Formats: sequence, C-alpha cells, structure tokens
Amino acid sequence: MAENNPLPRVAVIGTGGTISSVGRDSLDIATYADNKKKYQVDELLEQFPEVARVADVLPVRFRAVGSPAIGPAEWIEMVELIHKTAEENPGLDGFVVTHGTATLEETAYMLNLTAKVDVPIVVVGAQRPATALSTDAGLNLLNAIRVAGAPESRGLGVLVVLNDEIQAAREVVKTSTMRLHTFRTPDFGVLGHTDADKIAYYRKPVRRHSPDTEFDIRGRKDLPRVDIAFSYAGADGTAIDAFVAAGAKGIVTASMLPGSSNQAQLDALNAAAKKGVVIAQSVRNGSGRLVKIRSGRPEVAVLADNLPPTKARILLMLALTKTANTADIQRLFDTY
Ligand code: GLU
Repeated sequence: MAENNPLPRVAVIGTGGTISSVGRDSLDIATYADNKKKYQVDELLEQFPEVARVADVLPVRFRAVGSPAIGPAEWIEMVELIHKTAEENPGLDGFVVTHGTATLEETAYMLNLTAKVDVPIVVVGAQRPATALSTDAGLNLLNAIRVAGAPESRGLGVLVVLNDEIQAAREVVKTSTMRLHTFRTPDFGVLGHTDADKIAYYRKPVRRHSPDTEFDIRGRKDLPRVDIAFSYAGADGTAIDAFVAAGAKGIVTASMLPGSSNQAQLDALNAAAKKGVVIAQSVRNGSGRLVKIRSGRPEVAVLADNLPPTKARILLMLALTKTANTADIQRLFDTY
C-alpha cells in the first residue's frame, strides 16, 4: 500500500461464537462447542494474518463465549467498551464485533439503537468454526474488517457481514441452522456485497439508527425485563401470567399472522396491561408489517411494525428505559 493511502484502522472486539471456536479436528463442523475451546480475538486474528493486508487492526478482548451467553448485561458492557475504545483510540475508522450467530442479530440491533460512535460497526460471525475444513471464519472476518474500514459504510447504521453479504442490523435474521447463507433480510434483501475488488452497496436503511438515537444504556445496571409470549393453536395464558409474576415490564407477542392471539392469550394480555405491563404485538415468523386491525388484538398494544419478536423485545426494553406510555412507545416503533 502506498504511504499516501494508509490502511484503515479498525478495532475488532471479540465476544466468541463459532467464528472463534476451536474444534477437535478439521472435520469437527457441528459439535465443536462440546470441545469448550474458543480463541480470544487476538488469537483468532493470528489464525488469519491476511487481515493485516486490508487494515491496521486493533484487537480488543471482551469475551470468548457462545452467543447464548450474551444478554442485556453483556450488551451494556459491550456498548461501554466500544465507547471507551473509541475515546482511547482517536482516528479509528471502524469497529468489528466478532459474535456467535445464535444471538448475533439481537446484539446487532441493540448496537444499532445504542452505540453513539460515528464510524461503522460491523457484527460478524461464521457458520463453521475457525479450525474447520472450508471454514467461513477467515473470509467473513476479513470482509467485515474491509466493510468497517470503508468510507461508504458510514451512515448506514450497524451492519452484519457473513457469506459475502452486507445486511442491515434492523432487518437481518438467522434463517437456517447450518447453511452458510443463513443470514437473510426477508422482503428487502441485502444492502450490498463484499466483492473482491470493492465493497459494493445498492441500498440504504431509512429507519433511524446509530449514532443518532434517543437511547443510551451506558452506566445502567440492567434493562427492563421484557418477555416474549409465543402464540399457537390452543395456547393459554400460563406463560403470560408467569412473565407478569416474574416482574416483566413488557411482553412482546409472537402472534399468529397477520397479528392475532387467541382469546385465552388475549385475556391474559389484557390483564397484564391493566397491571401496567406494556404489550407489543409482533408476528411469530415470516415477514410483514402489522396493520391496524382490532380483531384478535389486545385492548391496548403497541404494534411492532415489521420487527421480529426478538428485535421488538430489544426496542421495547430500550423504550421502557424512557417511558411506559404506549403512544410514546408507538412513536419509537414507528421511528426505529
Ligand atoms: N453458534 C454458537 C454461538 O452462537 C456457537 C456455539 C457455542 O459455543 O455455543 O455462539
């Protein structure tokens, strides 16, 4: 690289996940988690020295865990670490967060709503462990670093990169247990591709996103408890009552499409709402926005737009840090 064209400086925050996992041998493609060995982020980067050709990389250790172990406490700490790293390293061009794929889309959306740094944040995972034959860990990591360091990535919110595809944190979901093309954006598709010769973008997210958001979780001990109530034929109010008894401040319904719950669940939801629990209605699978209809809906509920239940939960947790007023929370769901 010519001196007048320096490499971008990218901080890589390691959390663990399949991308960092060490299998028993190169054919350990599925049961590697049982081996209980994960690289710290600097060790992971050592496995793929090619990354030094695309960026000046700063490894930052956070965790080396499977992503089922990531939750609200880790999100608060992660956001604080991103800000601390930005403050201590002025001039960083971007961040990469290496992450397990199980909760990757949840962490990406949380960062998309709470990180206040003005450079790209790219969340990356892999479907095959770093040690596997034909692992996707190395190329996904390298491509995520390229995306984080690319000026074109600024202003798009938090991005997710796997399998040569760049997707928006708000919309991307994991859709397949084992396939490499597991991350998908239903209805809308990818933002762009990590081609060999350039980072090629085609679309921009329009919903409000990091760093320009109303939410700041730094300094918090935890986030308000929000649970997800799944709807299915014959479901009753048992789970909803239990969530209320456990202290839920909000409940997201993963309701039947196009957004309805059966009467037993509605009774439990209406009773919860009377106790001050905020209800947000989303749909249990598939895609699409909830339109305003009355039938099958709780008496008072926020509509979660087209967010899947897991992401509606994140936005409701953040909304409840500011207000319990359903009209105000509806505005947040219409904005983010
Ligand atoms: N796919 C898992 C994850 O999301 C990795 C396996 C594990 O260690 O739990 O992190």
